[in-house]
Amino acid sequence: MAITDRPDSQDSDVDLTAVDVAGIVARVRETYQSGRTRPIEWREEQLDGLVRMLKLEGPRFEAAMAADMGKPAMESFTTDVGFLAAEIAAVRKHVAKWAKPRKVRLPMTAMPGKGYIVPEPLGVALVIAPWNYPVNLLLLPMAAAIAAGNAVIAKPSELTGETAKLMAELVPRYVDPEAIAVIEGDVAVATELLEQRFDHIFYTGSSDVGRIVAAAAARFLTPVTLELGGKSPAFVDDSANLEVTGRRLAWGKWLNAGQTCVAPDYVLVTEQTRDALVDSIRAAFDEFSGGKGTRGNPDFTSIVNERHTTRLQGLLADHGGTVVFGGGSDLDANHVEPTIIVDPDADSDLMRQEIFGPILPVITVESMHEAVEFVNDREKPLALYVFAEDDETADELIANTTAGGTCVNHVIQHLVPADLPFGGVGESGTGRYHGQSGFDTFSNLRSVLKKPTKMDLKMLYPPYTAKKEKLLRRFM
Ligand code: NAD
Repeated sequence: MAITDRPDSQDSDVDLTAVDVAGIVARVRETYQSGRTRPIEWREEQLDGLVRMLKLEGPRFEAAMAADMGKPAMESFTTDVGFLAAEIAAVRKHVAKWAKPRKVRLPMTAMPGKGYIVPEPLGVALVIAPWNYPVNLLLLPMAAAIAAGNAVIAKPSELTGETAKLMAELVPRYVDPEAIAVIEGDVAVATELLEQRFDHIFYTGSSDVGRIVAAAAARFLTPVTLELGGKSPAFVDDSANLEVTGRRLAWGKWLNAGQTCVAPDYVLVTEQTRDALVDSIRAAFDEFSGGKGTRGNPDFTSIVNERHTTRLQGLLADHGGTVVFGGGSDLDANHVEPTIIVDPDADSDLMRQEIFGPILPVITVESMHEAVEFVNDREKPLALYVFAEDDETADELIANTTAGGTCVNHVIQHLVPADLPFGGVGESGTGRYHGQSGFDTFSNLRSVLKKPTKMDLKMLYPPYTAKKEKLLRRFM
């Protein structure tokens, strides 16, 4: 029996508390200790397996995401299945190169000798994923961990149960099930997993649970990568191309119904530009829906569940601002309309919580300097967007703020190029992945210095004479 198999793993009424978490972790660790995951060929085979799975089973994954949250196939393909197959294929292509020792130049004082950084696996990695991009956010960290030669245990989110079930069914068919396990489960299973010892924990989800993960990891001094959330602002400068800006901001809230960690959470704009910007965003939403609205629209994702729909209804109910577009919702359909709210109260829940839905507050500021202050008075964001035709303005905003990442004149796109490491800062997370940065995250970058014995400089050794000291002080 594959270690991820449970006799009833196809059954939606599965008793998740019956999963032998400690037993699975022990077996995966045994596999790791055997050295099986270290050869580059093994890593390449697993990455090939994941790409094959995404290509052959893509339609099943897309159907599962549609069942879980009404996600359009086009979005499931571009953000999860297709994007991921290309990303993992690129990791596969580069893994042999990334795993090679990296030669470093030595200073005079370390001569003669040769210096290397040798990437080696950390051991058994735990990946805990959220529901919003349920395939992408589980398999991309998993692929990085495999590329670095680790064994992996991955837990998908229980909120997207169909996708999680499919992952648990398919992953062991395409990769080595003795070294790579998917464990379905809820908070109880996640808690039990966190009681085990791992060599790296990669968590994606809310900042509150990130704190729980970090505290559990501290018990074993396990390194963590925390890919968290928060409010990602966008500043629209007076020089911005408003037609394109409006469309791109609207897309950031339309995609996955705004349930994206790097969705633009709110917009800062001067009074001079505000109304034209609002018109442009509104026109874009109308264009996207083909004038049919979003309820029952197959191109618009549902809110993931009732709890989140109710949460968003709460944000819509009490904010002190002016609703200039949308505002409707339907709990029975887990639907919230794309909504624009001008100047809500800064201390409303709408402006204090991460929105994670299709609601866009537009806040009037006097200048870019006020926008910078507004951003810097709050937690460090995962993403900060700036829209400006004037490049100096964009550079000034970047220079005077901090964020995990920034995209100028677009949203979300900065996570596409694999060579741009992705991650947060402060409350929005710690650590990076995508491309080689993911490989390095799951590696111990071991320093190795090789010294010849032909020459042995005695001046380092005692007795410490005045002559030796003089020489050393001159050369160091
Ligand atoms: P979620 O509720 O699915 O939780 C994420 C994972 O944590 C799940 O697997 C869940 O089982 C587990 N979990 C929940 N409570 C736990 C607990 N008490 N102890 C241990 N594990 C627990 O997802 P979510 O947290 O609602 O995800 C949304 C958040 O994730 C948003 O804040 C979003 O911004 C953030 N996010 C960040 C990124 C990123 O890359 N930085 C990507 C996606 C989502």
